[in-house]
Amino acid sequence: MKYISTRGQISPISFKEAVMMGLATDGGLLLPQTMPEVDKKNVTAWRDMSYQDLAHAVMSLFVDDIDPGDLRELINRSYATFSHGDITPLVKKGDVYILELFHGPTLAFKDVALQFLGNVFEYLLKESGDKMNILGATSGDTGSAAIYGVRGKERINIFILHPHKRVSAIQELQMTTVTDANVFNMAIRGTFDDGQAIVKTIFNDIAFKENYHLGAVNSINWARILAQVVYYIYAALKLSAKGPVDFSVPTGNFGDIFAGYIAGKLLPNQIRRLVLATNENDLLSRFVLHGDYSLGKVVHTSSPSMDIQLASNFERYLYFLRGRDAERTRKDMEEFGQTGRLVFPEDDLQQIRSDFVSRCVSRQETLEMISSFYRENDYVLDPHTAVGVKAAQFHLDGDVPMVCLATAHPAKFGTAVQEAIGRSPEMPEGLQGLENKEARCKVLDADVEKVREFVVENAL
Ligand SMILES: *Cc1c(COP(=O)(O)O)cnc(C)c1O
Repeated sequence: MKYISTRGQISPISFKEAVMMGLATDGGLLLPQTMPEVDKKNVTAWRDMSYQDLAHAVMSLFVDDIDPGDLRELINRSYATFSHGDITPLVKKGDVYILELFHGPTLAFKDVALQFLGNVFEYLLKESGDKMNILGATSGDTGSAAIYGVRGKERINIFILHPHKRVSAIQELQMTTVTDANVFNMAIRGTFDDGQAIVKTIFNDIAFKENYHLGAVNSINWARILAQVVYYIYAALKLSAKGPVDFSVPTGNFGDIFAGYIAGKLLPNQIRRLVLATNENDLLSRFVLHGDYSLGKVVHTSSPSMDIQLASNFERYLYFLRGRDAERTRKDMEEFGQTGRLVFPEDDLQQIRSDFVSRCVSRQETLEMISSFYRENDYVLDPHTAVGVKAAQFHLDGDVPMVCLATAHPAKFGTAVQEAIGRSPEMPEGLQGLENKEARCKVLDADVEKVREFVVENAL
């Protein structure tokens, strides 16, 4: 399997090269050159597999340059850190199924992808004799999942900036109590945007980036999408013996739902429809409902990990919408770069609407959803998951099972849950006693040079 860029200006590369490249060097996103065929025999064999076996079977369709035994080992190691035997268990609650994606070490769905990516990075760096210094900024969730993905790994150091005292206490502790020698937390006296701008400036210094082997773990890495395709297939095959299923996905970056789109291409008879759920940052629901993809202003909601108005994986879907025409995709993205807006006419809308339905869910609706779901099902949703469950309610169809992706454990967003149900959610073991652990963090001014200095002092 070779990988190409959505902008068509690199020659095809292997899976390994795609993982190390992250963002395509022509500014596009990497995608498999062809979509593998899945036949009836595959589907039958896959139905009874463990999560790890299924991950191996699915990933092998897209990865042909890692020894199959080694790939299996990487998968085993990645999911050994999960606290549930099914890795992503599926539970029926009321009239929907909840796909619990939060049993990894940081209790959010990003672990499913980042545990795998961390192991793949380590494996490839060992093979090439290279090293990597990962640099990133976080508003909370991604940082801890990235840190747990690479803690203790050889040939990798990780530097994560978070806004000082502007992430929740739990989020801060989840990051700073990881004291492995290769983990460096920086708290910036400023906002998340300041942190992001600093990281961007440093990455734009190409000489520095190369000298210090800077790497990223952002949501556009193909290996992350691939790891996420697996749980869609896992859930669909559990429920689709009689017919297809629908999925509802709370999304911001278009990453998770794009994995669902790929899963749907592999299993068109088992996966029917994707519900794209957003909070008040409605960029993506405006796109699906009105063909209007235009930058908005970020508003803060009770589901902060989706407070995004620029969907970094959107270009991957755009490429398919353009009939895999890289030239058109590139022109569209150039236009978007200049105007901050793309408008899709009725023809496109018909295609978009056959791929997705959508709903934008308000803060009030989210809190009410947490509350009513708790009353009716004795089950506590986190605010992100609640956005998806609420959106799903508008698209329920009696005959077709609805699977709602649960992207975080409610205890990670205790304040919103408390507001909705009048008590705080139970603390799972992984979050207990963090405040008593040793913590390590460097507090710095929001200044590029200060951050650069700290990276230089501690880089591999
Ligand atoms: C990152 C995140 C999301 C959104 O994921 P996308 O890949 O942007 O769709 C949803 N919920 C939680 C809890 C997250 O951390």
